[in-house]
Amino acid sequence: MKTLIKNSTLVSMNPLKDKIEYNKDILIEDDKIIKIEENINDNVDKIIDASNKVVMPGLINTHAHIPMSVFRETLDGYTLQEWMRQKIWPMEDKLTNDDIYYASYLSFIEMIKTGTTTINDMYFMTDSIIKAMKDTGIRLQTTRTLMNLNSSFDKMDELKELIKNYKDKYENLTFNVGIHGLYTSTSDYLDKCIEFAKESNLPIHMHFCENKEEVEDIKNIQGKNPTDVLKEKFNNHKMILAHCVKLTEEDINKMKDMNISISHCPVSNLKLGCGIAKIKYMQEVGINVTLGTDGQGSGSNLDLFETMKYTALLQKGVTEDPRNLRAYDVLKMATINGAKALGLDNKIGTIEEGKLADIIIIDINDVKIKPVNDLISQIVYNVKGNNVETTIVNGKILMENYKLNNIEEQFIYNECEQIINRIAI
Ligand SMILES: [Zn+2]
Repeated sequence: MKTLIKNSTLVSMNPLKDKIEYNKDILIEDDKIIKIEENINDNVDKIIDASNKVVMPGLINTHAHIPMSVFRETLDGYTLQEWMRQKIWPMEDKLTNDDIYYASYLSFIEMIKTGTTTINDMYFMTDSIIKAMKDTGIRLQTTRTLMNLNSSFDKMDELKELIKNYKDKYENLTFNVGIHGLYTSTSDYLDKCIEFAKESNLPIHMHFCENKEEVEDIKNIQGKNPTDVLKEKFNNHKMILAHCVKLTEEDINKMKDMNISISHCPVSNLKLGCGIAKIKYMQEVGINVTLGTDGQGSGSNLDLFETMKYTALLQKGVTEDPRNLRAYDVLKMATINGAKALGLDNKIGTIEEGKLADIIIIDINDVKIKPVNDLISQIVYNVKGNNVETTIVNGKILMENYKLNNIEEQFIYNECEQIINRIAI
């Protein structure tokens, strides 16, 4: 199967190329990008005309809880801990495998329609999440959340089983070891999780220092400062740390030589009243900063264009310097930096010959995007998820000209309404 994208304005995110290239054709064969040139005239099965449109890599969301789509807007008036204990955990106890499938399906539709092609997930009943991934065609990195405190049980065998059953089964599926946090596991159990991550050569995905209460809980349970626990236990293991809101500059300095990526989730952090992570400083000391939405329960939606705008504005505001966090750096966070965090930067994150075809096409014929003085700034500040008109993952066209292929949207919406009607508290 060969697909040719014609006449694009290309923002490839390839550091060796110009930030914006004009009149580029992109030839895709099966799952891969095989040629990027002007005026390609090969025999192909499908031509997509991208004249006056922007072609860029699909966005990469490095922290989410995919089935939490059904908990959208249940948070108003609660703190994080109250919301979890009084609403989320009792509702989650009622979720069935079918519920997880439909709730995940809803999130995957949302991603396809808003230009995100890869997501890093942390939840449970992962088989059903993987089934929805297979049926929608999205790219997924997932796990089975591990913790052993707060009446949770050790699920490491479940994670081992998942990895055994699905390893190398789908090109768009990879795994990591999801440790819920330093405050929901005992010290011995953390050691066991780290050992497993080393044995299986997988990155660790973990919540870290999201709010004040969490930092206090970590000190009480682990007997140390969170950053010291991290340094002593995890050494140089590859990690994706979500949030990191409460880190001081001193903490960040301690972490800068570790093999970590930060998943910055500004919308969720603001909504939960957690504060604002020191992203500018992290970036300055060389930490790989990426973007996440968190679950829609706290993050509202999976639109990473919205996340990019918050990221840029917040850092300019808190540092009182508008020169900080240039638009192109924010775009890197949502693409190639995310790919690096997930260990997939040799496959995705840029549009380059030889990489997998995870590509989105943006229609800039929109009043907010006229006139185009600076296209990169336009993408960060004025493009929204609903300006994405075509989404391609692993060479497959999942949405073309705003129309989803092989997806029954209304049916999924109805199923999700029924789930929340049944389990709502
Ligand atoms: Zn989270």
